[in-house]
Amino acid sequence: MLPPGSTIGILGGGQLGRMTAFAAHRLGYNCHIFAGDADEPGPQATSLSTIAPLTDTAALARFAEAVDVVTYETENIPLEAVDVILATKPVLPGREVLAICQDRLREKDYLRSIDVGTTQYREVAGPAELGRALRDLGHRAVLKSTRMGYDGKGQVPVTPDSDPQIAWAAMGAPTGILESYVDFTCEISVIVARTANGGMANYPPVENQHANHILDTTLVPARIPAETSMRAEAIARHIAEKIGLVGVLAVEMFVTTIGEILVNELAPRPHNSGHWTIDACVTSQFEQLVRAICGLPLGSTERHSDAVMRNIIGPDVERWREPLADPLAKLHLYGKRTAPPGRKMGHITRLIPRR
Ligand code: AMP
Repeated sequence: MLPPGSTIGILGGGQLGRMTAFAAHRLGYNCHIFAGDADEPGPQATSLSTIAPLTDTAALARFAEAVDVVTYETENIPLEAVDVILATKPVLPGREVLAICQDRLREKDYLRSIDVGTTQYREVAGPAELGRALRDLGHRAVLKSTRMGYDGKGQVPVTPDSDPQIAWAAMGAPTGILESYVDFTCEISVIVARTANGGMANYPPVENQHANHILDTTLVPARIPAETSMRAEAIARHIAEKIGLVGVLAVEMFVTTIGEILVNELAPRPHNSGHWTIDACVTSQFEQLVRAICGLPLGSTERHSDAVMRNIIGPDVERWREPLADPLAKLHLYGKRTAPPGRKMGHITRLIPRR
């Protein structure tokens, strides 16, 4: 157990690390953020930071010396950077979890190996193979880069009639995965936290609506039958246990038109669809992460309110005053200095108290 007063290292300078630091500070921990720029949301919020690229081995080694445990706020962390840290300090969730979750192909292979349903998929290494895979699947599909994808980046919708050369060039990565298009009634996610001694707690499934491939709105709880909800929670807990999670894991799923649940993606870190937990739950996803990696017991995931969480994207941030007119709306801004289209600038959680 790491007692309060210890220092948590966080790889990545974004808002997820910033909100993790807020939760850690409240419990009396220090945070040291490793980021590319001092002006990012994370380092703005902590007195300790290392500003260097993730390829700077010497900076990573010094960072590891200065902290007690390390976590990450994005899965796009090179494993080489993790290995430098592992020479002296633990990294949680562990290296293997990160390796699985940062590669869509490995992730889907892993899910299948533990009997979790996914859409059909094929590995594709070039345009010729893509052409064959398209004919093989025989219907609408999505070509995705296997690595470094987020918010729809590196994704191309395709059909058996698509020109494989053009689709491959549009995807723009050296390796791809072709996924059968899923006819879904809604997209949901379940966030689960787990400790080293197997303590587990999950939030209810929430419903995620996207605009331009970016999460726009999360509805809490998801509008799905209770039985589907229970299945989704069981899937998330099954994955957390099998993968040996210590930390938090977001499991993104499709609920298909025939009521199946297919897992789309895993994120071994706090997730945008869990931001509502800060304002509506006894314990937020960020506090659960801190508790899990410091060896404290998890808190209750019970919610006192239902919620609607809306992201504030790009120039919309200029209208930050508007939600404040509603006393049940909680405004969160990430301190980003520029607001280009598509950038997540903050979010608003509207609470709907449960009586
Ligand atoms: P991802 O980066 O995998 O989370 O994909 C971003 C969004 O694209 C998802 O939230 C879905 O709305 C959509 N999407 C991704 N993969 C598929 C698929 N195989 N079938 C249908 N929609 C998809």
